[in-house]
Amino acid sequence: MFPIKTFVSERRATNLLAQVRWRNGVSYPRCRAESVIRYDSYRVFQRYLCKNCDRTFKVALS
Ligand SMILES: [Zn+2]
Repeated sequence: MFPIKTFVSERRATNLLAQVRWRNGVSYPRCRAESVIRYDSYRVFQRYLCKNCDRTFKVALS
């Protein structure tokens, strides 16, 4: 069975990150730091590393 719930929440999260990206570059919304670097990419996602808290997050490429 296709995990629809997981897909929807994942999509919502990436949309939120996309909005942040369009406003003022890439930043990690959890700590609002703008000191992020490109980490790697996987399929349609670009992963970033937040140098402030050492966490990675991904943004959908469009
Ligand atoms: Zn951070």
